[in-house]
Amino acid sequence: MIEKFDRLHGLPDGFFDITTANIRSLFPNPTLVQLEGRDPRFLFISILLHGNEYTGLKVMQQVLSDHAHDLPRSILLFIGNVRAAEANRRFLPGQVDYNRCWPGTDLEPSPTSGMMQRVVEIAHGLPLFAAIDIHNNTGKNPHYACITDPKMENQNLAARFNRVGMVFNHHGVSTMAFNGICPAATLECGKPGDPEGIKHACRFLEDMLTLGELPHKRPTRHALHLVESHLTLNVRDDVSFEFDPDADADLRFEPDFEDRNFTLFDPQQVFGYTRVARPIAITDTDGHDVTDEILRVEEGKIYLNNTMMPAMITQDKLVVRQDCLCHLLQDYLPYHETEF
Ligand SMILES: [Zn+2]
Repeated sequence: MIEKFDRLHGLPDGFFDITTANIRSLFPNPTLVQLEGRDPRFLFISILLHGNEYTGLKVMQQVLSDHAHDLPRSILLFIGNVRAAEANRRFLPGQVDYNRCWPGTDLEPSPTSGMMQRVVEIAHGLPLFAAIDIHNNTGKNPHYACITDPKMENQNLAARFNRVGMVFNHHGVSTMAFNGICPAATLECGKPGDPEGIKHACRFLEDMLTLGELPHKRPTRHALHLVESHLTLNVRDDVSFEFDPDADADLRFEPDFEDRNFTLFDPQQVFGYTRVARPIAITDTDGHDVTDEILRVEEGKIYLNNTMMPAMITQDKLVVRQDCLCHLLQDYLPYHETEF
């Protein structure tokens, strides 16, 4: 069985006026919208895979209203978790994460993974220019693109969004499903609804709608600083936490912890405070627990063993419990490439 989704050829009336709160009045189910443009090579765009990350909807309303009568390039738009969007949640209890169940996922097959499989089959059946997935973070982060495969075309795509880009390797994300088919990137556009993030993503999509070809040369180190995210940091389920060093909680961080996104933590800087022995679990992309290699606890203070850069820190407690507290980044060092 696969989760029901709708297919449209054209935008429904009222598209430019909806918000996520009433999105199901137009899109009662996840929906794939096919729009023909002058250049028949499609831009696949997914939005609202995480229901509360509504920048993608605003961006598509803006871009499509600017091109209401003359779309430079065809678009295949996938509007994802409309039920969670309506409730302003990442996903609803009982649902799987819509950005962890695309082909390549480690999760058990589900109706939702069946739907993603079908969406990918439809997309792969069309001539594709690039695949773009629009997201937000909950913390204060720069805008950046994530790619799952650091090959040249993906690096060039990332570099057109910002000079910092991330290589990530979470199985089952939409971007991974397009590797080998077309350039693919996930855009992280700051907090949901952040006007700068919306503007930035609109500019990027304008570029993608009118660009003839991506460059055939790897971006220089100045054009793209690639970092790698292969460690995920979670607060253990039975551990209480606060963003206040003086709070009565097992694990505590500084109140401005999320300002530390994309800044370096060296092994002498206090990462957090704890009154329990193992408050944090750190996993690598294979799901192995690598906590004891990465951090140490000394007299109630937590330190990292190597200099690393946290990203996507969130202080939203629900997101911390549902997703993670942050990721830890290092510079991406290609193993088999000696020149840039
Ligand atoms: Zn997201």
